[in-house]
Amino acid sequence: MLISFDQKHIWHPYTSALNPLPVYGVKKASGVYLELEDGKKLIDGMSSWWAAIHGYNHPVLNQAIYEQVEKMAHVMFGGITHEPAIQLASLLLNLVPSNLKWIFFADSGSVSVEVALKMVLQYWHAKGEKRTKFLTISKGYHGDTFGAMSVCDPITGMHSIFNKFLPKNIFAPAPQNGDFNSKDFENFLKILEKYESEVAGVILEPVVQGAGGMRIYSPVFLQKVASLCKSKGILLILDEIATGFGRTGKMFALEYAGVEPDILCLGKALTGGYMTLAATLCTEEVAKTICSAPPFVFMHGPTFMANPLACNVALASCKLLLQYDWQKKVRKIQNQLERELLSLKELNQVRDVRVLGAIGVVELVDKVDVAKAQKRFVEFGVWIRPFLNLIYIMPPYIISSSELHTLTTAIKKIVEEKSYA
Ligand SMILES: *Cc1c(COP(=O)(O)O)cnc(C)c1O
Repeated sequence: MLISFDQKHIWHPYTSALNPLPVYGVKKASGVYLELEDGKKLIDGMSSWWAAIHGYNHPVLNQAIYEQVEKMAHVMFGGITHEPAIQLASLLLNLVPSNLKWIFFADSGSVSVEVALKMVLQYWHAKGEKRTKFLTISKGYHGDTFGAMSVCDPITGMHSIFNKFLPKNIFAPAPQNGDFNSKDFENFLKILEKYESEVAGVILEPVVQGAGGMRIYSPVFLQKVASLCKSKGILLILDEIATGFGRTGKMFALEYAGVEPDILCLGKALTGGYMTLAATLCTEEVAKTICSAPPFVFMHGPTFMANPLACNVALASCKLLLQYDWQKKVRKIQNQLERELLSLKELNQVRDVRVLGAIGVVELVDKVDVAKAQKRFVEFGVWIRPFLNLIYIMPPYIISSSELHTLTTAIKKIVEEKSYA
């Protein structure tokens, strides 16, 4: 494998062309294992960024791809429909809160967020009200495209670089980790009231803020924000792209708060990590309002909308999830993460340890040297990719307790020996 070619010509996520971070060649992956070029096998702690919930090379998911590719890999969605899209839509609409009735298939999580923002803007346009701002909380992450970026945390999202181009949205302080603090909601309320006439929608990651800082906040905050939005007639978008499909211990994290958003974004684990596919779901009211005034249509339509291969593997992945006792599996992972990671809190170099469902986060005092930490993790036989001052895992649900133990032991060792700095 020509890694030297890669390092000279291929961009990786958030890396430098002048001084690229090392990359590891993976030749295949199966179950919870990634196999490197030299034959070394690593236990995967990342699920390829929340996606590969059933592990890799799964016979059922492979079969869904084989069967579909022999019928058709892709066909345009303008004026055409197909069984994989219809079946997947019907399954998803049954899984989400019952007020959601319409589904838009997008090609990635970021695009599904763009679609959600456009739905909100078209909704107010149709109502003849000039509302164009989104209110969110800091430390969030909603994707890398411009609309999505404009509601990401202004600091970690590097708004300063894109300042002149980026829509200016409104940020309330992020709620604290852990228990509900009424101050957090009071702050949010104050800011909403200040900008009320301009606010078109509120967008939040429910309960778990992912790539903006791996934070876990109280469902009470979410509950209060949701009822506030309802009372003010402001649309609520929940971004479950990271949290959806069981990751937090509920099918969707919004279930912790028992709330019904006006718009919901799904992605990542939707296809079990096989292909890129996302979805934006909305209420009948949002859909009908958008289409009640010129241009009388919703203005979005990607080339690869509802790609049949992606829809078919998503359908298989959702069915697979529903077939087994994933709640018990995720609870078991949560218990083990708590048993094996929480004690790290006592170390001086550790600021906090957080666990929810199959997510374990160690927040350090100092920033992690990613290349250094990654190398050490590979020596321990695990695949864990830290960012900022965070070492975190969200393994495939099929991981065994001894494999999970190997992951947490590697984290413990690296944190104790401080070989991440
Ligand atoms: C990953 C992520 C996105 C963006 O999804 P992509 O498929 O990477 O475009 C949006 N929101 C959340 C919460 C995410 O975790």
